[in-house]
Amino acid sequence: MSSSGLQCVCCGSKSFKPTPYYYHWHNKEFILTACRNCGLITMDPKPTDEELGLLYADEYFETGQHGLNKLNMTYEQGQDKNSTELRKQTVKQNILAYKPDTKSLFEIGFAMGHILSAARDLGLEIGGIEFSPMAVSKAKEKFNIDALCGNFETIDLSAHEGKWDCVYGGDVFEHFIHPDKVVTNMHRILKDNGVAIVIVPSTFNLFSTYIATALFRLMGKRKKFYDKPYHVFEYTPSTIKKMFLKEFREVQVVNRIKKPGQLNMKTGGFEYKIKYLIHFINYPFTRMFNRNGDRLLVIARK
Ligand SMILES: [Zn+2]
Repeated sequence: MSSSGLQCVCCGSKSFKPTPYYYHWHNKEFILTACRNCGLITMDPKPTDEELGLLYADEYFETGQHGLNKLNMTYEQGQDKNSTELRKQTVKQNILAYKPDTKSLFEIGFAMGHILSAARDLGLEIGGIEFSPMAVSKAKEKFNIDALCGNFETIDLSAHEGKWDCVYGGDVFEHFIHPDKVVTNMHRILKDNGVAIVIVPSTFNLFSTYIATALFRLMGKRKKFYDKPYHVFEYTPSTIKKMFLKEFREVQVVNRIKKPGQLNMKTGGFEYKIKYLIHFINYPFTRMFNRNGDRLLVIARK
């Protein structure tokens, strides 16, 4: 049982088992712990409102992406270097491929609006929400995008109810403290037969993580994650599917995986060399069986 009164947002269970992984930030440990019933992994404790403000201050966009970044580019520079054509491809591959009759798109966490602007170029009506005021004003300045600034869990969405064909969130769902509210709100702003599409990382779905976790447990060791505590939840195909099935009638999960050469080697240390080798087995397996990918594309139909 969890001493902190932690309750699983997916299944309601109060029984958790800590994983060997934790974040250390602001003199505080954030331990990743798994629900014993459904397997959903979450951070304990979760960042406070004050800490969230610090995590998503303007510097969030200064390092290109959170975590260690070898490209030495800001987020904006990283996005700008992708051509408009490439961004349109992303809209086609991640959204139109699964909902070809999409006429209107609402993006959660649109950052500086690169994807929304490409969607508008493709003729879609666009809208969205972004947490960072700095990013929202950038989106306005760069692409003349007018959209909501705030937290999708709590913002007033009454004007958006039943309005959108598709709600999309790329690399954002794992950042929410109350993903159950996010799922409910996504469902609410969609038209009947609308589709919610999210992309989440799935670190705990990889062969290398299974092996590492078993070894850390065997040795009684813990492992600190390098990043700040951004990912409040870690999803696998089974847990993300359960989350969306709370509201949606049909949920499909597509496992994606980086080619071994595209892996972010971070420190380049011994552990990452092993991870790299294991990835050579994981990669074809994922491609063949749609399992154990490092990113999940979730298509949830209302
Ligand atoms: Zn659970």
